[in-house]
Amino acid sequence: MGLLTIGAFAKASRLSPKALRLYDELGLLTPARVDLVTGYRLYGPEQLDQARLVAWLRRLGMPLARIQHVCALDAVSAAQEVRAFWAQVEADTAARRDLATFLIDHLSWKDPALSPTAKPLGILYAALSDTGLVRESNQDTAYAGSRLLAIADGYGSGGAPASAAAVDALKRLESDSIPAGNLLNVLEEAVEQAKQAVHGVTGTSSSPEEAGTTLTAMLWTGSQLALVHIGDSRVYLLRDGELFQITHDHTMVQSMVDEGRLSPEEAASHPQRSLLIRALGRGADATPDMRLHDAHQEDRYLLCSDGLSTVVQTEEIRRVLSEASDPEQAVRKLIALANGIGGPDNVSCVVADVVELQ
Ligand code: MN
Repeated sequence: MGLLTIGAFAKASRLSPKALRLYDELGLLTPARVDLVTGYRLYGPEQLDQARLVAWLRRLGMPLARIQHVCALDAVSAAQEVRAFWAQVEADTAARRDLATFLIDHLSWKDPALSPTAKPLGILYAALSDTGLVRESNQDTAYAGSRLLAIADGYGSGGAPASAAAVDALKRLESDSIPAGNLLNVLEEAVEQAKQAVHGVTGTSSSPEEAGTTLTAMLWTGSQLALVHIGDSRVYLLRDGELFQITHDHTMVQSMVDEGRLSPEEAASHPQRSLLIRALGRGADATPDMRLHDAHQEDRYLLCSDGLSTVVQTEEIRRVLSEASDPEQAVRKLIALANGIGGPDNVSCVVADVVELQ
């Protein structure tokens, strides 16, 4: 079978001649030959598969440069690449969905004080941070106040001042009054200030790119908890006896799990499992995840550093949170649990209970 004219090739590949001309111009599918006299494009029948693949990838919404890359790969690698692309799309969509949910919740929020049946809610809280049994110093910072709950896990040469600076920068949220409708802006501004504060203390470090911190915080608004999250510290919610992890780790291994390149079991024992893809630090992506949670009476929230979550089994965390009588006892028991398993890392916990105000 000889070369096909663009018309014949278009028909066979079920693409329009216009699309084929475009793919040629973009370098995605170069004709086998272009007639020098007429300028007509001629295609080889073996190019049909690639033409269809380009069309499918375009339909998927893959950017042109990436399509070009996929077309140059063998089938196995191409499949891997499509999987990675789709995982990225889903992660982006999830982030936008969270933002949309935040805005919807925020815009449709009604002050419970105006409802005659609503009981006023408050939080009881405790924070505890421990060096563990192996590390020489504690680079974690844990804080709990009547409005702010925060965990920061510093790393690198300036890890301890970095985590302290990040949490300190948020503390103004304790006292500042937040104008209604302004919560998202206030949180974003607070994270920006935390970022600047971290840069301020790590700026003179000999290897600044190596120093930084995670930051996971919740702000109590009187009926809701607003979450900001960067890094691999976590928030869990114990509600009706069930434990939910409500943050997503910003780690290399977690994104490999999301892309289907690693199983959760492999991730848990991966030597590079603490490698962060987001953090507060120079050169790091500091985009926070933000969420708004409606608080229910008897909810128990746990914020913790990876010194707890990578050491203690989730079921054990759930058990201790279910059994502890108050936040104070919960943080003490959780830290004792991590140290009982060798305490390989600094470990920090903040526990907050949502209670009816007397
Ligand atoms: Mn840690």
